[in-house]
Amino acid sequence: STAATAIIGAGIAGLACAQRLNTAGKAVQLFEKARGPGGRMSSKRRPQAIVDLGAQYFTARDAEFQEAVARWQQAGCIAPWPERLWQASPLGWEARHDGQLRYAGKPRMSALPRHLAQGLTIHSKTPIETLERDGSQWWLIDSNARRHGPFAQVVISTPAPQAQVLLGEWAPRLSEICRATPQRACWAGWVTFTQPLPVLPGVPETWQIARLAHPALRLISRNQTKPGREEQGESLSLIAHLDWSEVHLESSADEVANFLLDALRSVFPSPTHLPDIKDLGAHRWRYAQPAEFASTQDPKHLTDFYLESNGLALCGDGCRGGRVEDAWLSGHHLGQVLAKT
Ligand code: FAD
Repeated sequence: STAATAIIGAGIAGLACAQRLNTAGKAVQLFEKARGPGGRMSSKRRPQAIVDLGAQYFTARDAEFQEAVARWQQAGCIAPWPERLWQASPLGWEARHDGQLRYAGKPRMSALPRHLAQGLTIHSKTPIETLERDGSQWWLIDSNARRHGPFAQVVISTPAPQAQVLLGEWAPRLSEICRATPQRACWAGWVTFTQPLPVLPGVPETWQIARLAHPALRLISRNQTKPGREEQGESLSLIAHLDWSEVHLESSADEVANFLLDALRSVFPSPTHLPDIKDLGAHRWRYAQPAEFASTQDPKHLTDFYLESNGLALCGDGCRGGRVEDAWLSGHHLGQVLAKT
């Protein structure tokens, strides 16, 4: 159909936008470079364990997002997690009770994007490289030089640096927004063990996720304590600091994984013998988290998506904030506006 919308990127923002359009009966197709949907809400299957590589949990502060969260909880693809956060240091561990509800995908973070993808048309393993204009219509050209279209509207929901490449000269205002909202890099490691971690003095036995006072390692989360993963063994996600990640951006994944493992040893109060390691690795997110958000730079025009009269649009976490919730809201709000056109 000539009124169809293309969405580049099937992360939570692109999926929220697509769902909104689909519900309104509008034709919409998603184009995703990876094998499946999810983007930074991805999970990795390892021997006898699933580890989350990106977001470890998400908050629900906004009322509209809370409504969606209630539906997803009903559908069984998310559940509250963790019960509390811990702050860990060699001096001891402290629980943080901030009253904030947090959720994780069930039985893996990517269960939520997979749920949202149901009933949508997604072209996976299809990186889009350029946009072409033909009269008032848009065509998408993928990395195999295949043409997709025509579309009346093209939504770009990728991290801003990738969006900027796609925009080229087509939308100077949107290019400027992308330029002003760069994304920072982050290394995310994982380690799985043959045995549970030993119970240590000063460390609560039931900890689920802990923030650390360590120059490299920012957060450790225990995947077997997440909803639906009770059967799997000790399996940690090791999230590095952004500053440290940027300094080590070109290090090998092996080097980084070993460094994060050493950092893990040092956060326990006494010299600790970790159990035998089953699996160790690291994933580099070149575009992990927005350094700036377009919405806060433009207080007079508070908006969390951008739409041009030529049919090009931007949404995603960089348009609003650095969280799952922000990305969903950005895509959902854009979908609401596009559904009326
Ligand atoms: P993305 O998820 O990045 O989706 C964009 C999609 O576009 C991707 O699937 C990508 O493959 C695709 N794409 C890119 N270029 C192209 C192209 N040319 N053609 C086709 N497809 C393309 N948030 C929280 O709320 N809580 C947390 O605890 C948290 N922790 C995090 C930890 C890490 C390590 C990382 C990396 C992120 C974390 N976040 C967290 C942030 C959260 O994951 C993101 O804000 C959110 O998932 C972004 O969604 P998005 O749809 O905007 O972008």
